[in-house]
Amino acid sequence: MRYIDFRSDTVTLPTEEMKEAMIKAPLGDDVYGDDPTVNELEELAAQMMGKEAALFVPSGTFGNQLCVLTHTLRGDEVILEANCHIKKYEVGASSVIAGVQLSSIEGHLGKMDIEKIEQAIRNEDIHYPRTGLICLENATGVGTVLDLAYMRQVREISLRHQIPIHLDGARIFNAAWSLGCEVKEIAQYVDSVMFCLSKGLCAPIGSMVVGTREFINRARKNRKLMGGGLRQAGILAACGIVALKEMTKRLYIDHENAKYLADRLEEFPGFKVYRDRLQINMVFATINGKTNFPGNFPELLLKKGIKVGGYRGKEIRFVTHHDIVIKIN
Ligand SMILES: *Cc1c(COP(=O)(O)O)cnc(C)c1O
Repeated sequence: MRYIDFRSDTVTLPTEEMKEAMIKAPLGDDVYGDDPTVNELEELAAQMMGKEAALFVPSGTFGNQLCVLTHTLRGDEVILEANCHIKKYEVGASSVIAGVQLSSIEGHLGKMDIEKIEQAIRNEDIHYPRTGLICLENATGVGTVLDLAYMRQVREISLRHQIPIHLDGARIFNAAWSLGCEVKEIAQYVDSVMFCLSKGLCAPIGSMVVGTREFINRARKNRKLMGGGLRQAGILAACGIVALKEMTKRLYIDHENAKYLADRLEEFPGFKVYRDRLQINMVFATINGKTNFPGNFPELLLKKGIKVGGYRGKEIRFVTHHDIVIKIN
């Protein structure tokens, strides 16, 4: 049976061009800095993000937690949005790996109030932890994008209080398409960015971390500590190079398809699409705006060959990507 797989943009498979690139990639031991393909990918990523240096890591979760570890001291507090990936979907890793405490702020459509961020910053007091980091997510997991003016405002707070910002930019290229800007215009307001090569960009494995050379040097050592020192990783990095050079150019198609899908879904009686969260390649929908679907609705879709992402039983999430073609003209 063939499926239309809307569960996530992580299900995309490597393209033919990627497979060829894997075979041809010059390789070496990357722990010694000897893999020319990894080095090329890291240079390309740094340049695209407008940062001094970059580091290839095994996954997005790895990259985020590596950055939390590298920015903070044990016992620090990290300010982030209550529903963000780092807090909600990374197995509590920040407390295990970096040993930090999270101070979360309930946002609106993934966006924390600027005032609340500033209020959450701790002053010097014998009772208080030190505020070590602010984390942002762009694009957010709820289908929205943080605009550049907002990013700049958070940057001003961060500079005023001398607290670094880490950006979970798993889908930063989707955010850039949505904002009509380059990724480096988003990245300019933060100290480090993690972004995924394996989400929507079709690479099979891998994410990148970017920042200053000093930060990346320390992160490289922490990556080894976390067991992420890979040897002939060029075989994966080769796909990452194709992902960055080629696949980033077509993400707007996924956004168009999401809008097309939203329009078609709304033609069904009782179907409610969250239009205010239709900014990237995701469509969130409920039936009749009620909080519960008929329990078997995703099952019903599955029988028709459609896989969807359940969102805590309340909403259905449809993610559009390279390996599904919905729009048939
Ligand atoms: C997917 C995702 C991650 C983590 O990526 P993995 O490679 O699955 O570990 C981090 N942040 C956000 C916002 C994501 O969507």
